[in-house]
Amino acid sequence: MSIFAKKLVYFVSPKLELFQELARQLQFFGFDFRAFDRNSSLLAALYTDKPSIIMLDESGTSDVTASQCLPLLTKLFKGPIFLANYGFDLAKQLEYLRLGVTDFVSHPISLQSLIDRLDQQEEKELVRPYKVLLVDDSETVAKWAHSVLNGAGMLFKHLTDPLRVIDSLESFQPDILLLDVYMPQCKGDEIAKLIRQRPQFDSIPIVFLSTETHRGRQLMARSMGGDDFLVKNMEADELIAAVGIIAERYRTLRRWMTRDSLTGLLNHTNIVESLSREVTRAHKESRQLAYAMIDIDFFKQINDKYGHPVGDRVIKSLSRLLKASMPNPDAVGRYGGEEFALIWTDHTQIRAAQRTDELRILFHELAHSNENGHFNASFSAGVAQLEDGMTAQDLIDAADKALYQAKAAGRNQVGLASKQP
Ligand code: GH3
Ligand code: MG
Ligand code: MG
Repeated sequence: MSIFAKKLVYFVSPKLELFQELARQLQFFGFDFRAFDRNSSLLAALYTDKPSIIMLDESGTSDVTASQCLPLLTKLFKGPIFLANYGFDLAKQLEYLRLGVTDFVSHPISLQSLIDRLDQQEEKELVRPYKVLLVDDSETVAKWAHSVLNGAGMLFKHLTDPLRVIDSLESFQPDILLLDVYMPQCKGDEIAKLIRQRPQFDSIPIVFLSTETHRGRQLMARSMGGDDFLVKNMEADELIAAVGIIAERYRTLRRWMTRDSLTGLLNHTNIVESLSREVTRAHKESRQLAYAMIDIDFFKQINDKYGHPVGDRVIKSLSRLLKASMPNPDAVGRYGGEEFALIWTDHTQIRAAQRTDELRILFHELAHSNENGHFNASFSAGVAQLEDGMTAQDLIDAADKALYQAKAAGRNQVGLASKQP
């Protein structure tokens, strides 16, 4: 369903039926799985089809125990190995740790806790390259910076005309802007001032590049509306380190500013901003655009019946499901408490509604655990399509109206906004 390559999880156990349901539900969250009850087939598979994670049962396979299987397994597989255990003491855990186990998950394994671990793992591995935009009239400087930063794995874009910087900031969305101080059209500090007038670029650090060496370079940069100051004839290593450190710091900051803390999805302000950007682009380039508003059904009852923390888990499950299914992380947002927004770029209303309906079915199938067992939840959605003259707010209003109709018609369904007269 997702267009990504799915992450592969290996389950290893003599009793595979223990993992069947877990593995099935894991697929909804963008993970694929393979199951092994024999050591030899596990080892053979590792040569051809490397998993992201191995979930090993303490009882090992039908032919060897976990302790017997680990030495060779860790030789063939360098990724994380989770051990499903039945509750053992620290000494035993230490023994497994030394054999190469990276994490312990206790039986019966809850889907939620497993996904939390897999998410953490993924977060650790996810290193998106930094995007660097350089505005400088000198081709020589650009060539040098390009080869240095590109060589360090960063994505690099060069702009000679400072007057086109806003367009590039919007389309390239850099992590850091390197700005020449002296250019024929204007000075770097003038451009910095103009960029700082626009709040949407607040979280992009501006670093000046100059051939002059300045003491108190921070102060100098700040007084010019930037964040730092680098000299052009610095060593390559120094440039890589400086750009990397600044970009990383602002990335973390941006994450806090734009993402919702419970789900990691774009927060209200930022999903609306993301939608506005797409609406502008769709009008300009005559592209299709649809928008879906999702609201969990009877969520108040879920809270009342099972408690607020269980309610939170349901919200997290839905956000993971949405995240795993949308090609672009900026297309999903937490619009409000139990309300979510999906931006379907290049989708007609019908197609977006079909995709949203697939998600609805998946979500309805998920089993959420509480102290006494499992329950299912559902959502309703409204889908609207961008038409000539519509603003982002018109689109939101239309989807909201369709959502309201879906609720009124019995919930657990997707409503279509009617065409504008
Ligand atoms: P409907 O089917 O009409 O949408 O009914 P509903 O109960 O889902 O809708 P309502 O708007 O009456 O209630 C939404 C509830 O969601 C109220 C609020 O306490 C709860 N809620 C909002 N944010 C959170 C959250 O972050 N965690 C939890 N657990 N509950 C939340
Ligand atoms: Mg609501
Ligand atoms: Mg609701």
